[in-house]
Amino acid sequence: MLREIKHSCGHIETYQIANGQFSRMKKFHQARLCKECWKTEAQDKQKFAKADNARSGLPKLTGMPTLIPSAELIRYDFFKFITENVNDLKEKGSEFQMAVDLLRSKQEAAWWHAHKRERFVHLFDVAMDHAAHKMRLKALEPKIQQRLKDLHLVPLSGSIKQIQWGDSIRQHLLLDLIGVELCLEEALHDQEAWAEFMHRLCHDLEPVPKQLEKMSRDLALMDAAGHWIEIRHYSIEEVVRWMHRPESLARMMHMIQGRFFFVLNL
Ligand SMILES: [Zn+2]
Repeated sequence: MLREIKHSCGHIETYQIANGQFSRMKKFHQARLCKECWKTEAQDKQKFAKADNARSGLPKLTGMPTLIPSAELIRYDFFKFITENVNDLKEKGSEFQMAVDLLRSKQEAAWWHAHKRERFVHLFDVAMDHAAHKMRLKALEPKIQQRLKDLHLVPLSGSIKQIQWGDSIRQHLLLDLIGVELCLEEALHDQEAWAEFMHRLCHDLEPVPKQLEKMSRDLALMDAAGHWIEIRHYSIEEVVRWMHRPESLARMMHMIQGRFFFVLNL
């Protein structure tokens, strides 16, 4: 039957309530705002979050306009968590600030939505892994640059514009590829520190650095700027498939790229 219930905001709403359920439903609704007030409150919270995020210097969010207001709130809650737990989080390691900066730089509304169900501390741990990986890459930077030089890249062919574009894509992709190769090599090198269950994985990873090295050598010979432009948005996994390399390598890249930091930082 239809019954009226007064919400905590004072508004009265009419609900269809099954027999015998009234006292339970009354209790439930009484403690809550009515739908309109709830919506207004949610919007106010989002507005407040947006203003506060901007005040603290977070970058503007990008992506679907319908996702942005709620992403502001997720982001706001997350950095509030960081501020409130700063001392505990700092104890996790010297990468603390870098991890925070990485998270601050996350600009896609969809990214915040994709991670909203994770516990904040877990999200922060992922960022710490990412930061540790970045530091590792930074340490390897001279080696990576040297390897790129040693590849003796062929001159690109195409229009002037294509050549410029293709060249920057080529640099970017090869640096990525060599970075993965060298990081992996390094990680495989200090396997001793790895847990027993990782050894099986190590075994499967063993040939990967060599396969990646072969790929970068072959790519160094690719002279058509148009080809580089074609693969500009490709992940390493996609490049592996595009070059018709073994499917096992593509699968390995899929696994590593998603959890690269996790795998390397065990
Ligand atoms: Zn109300």
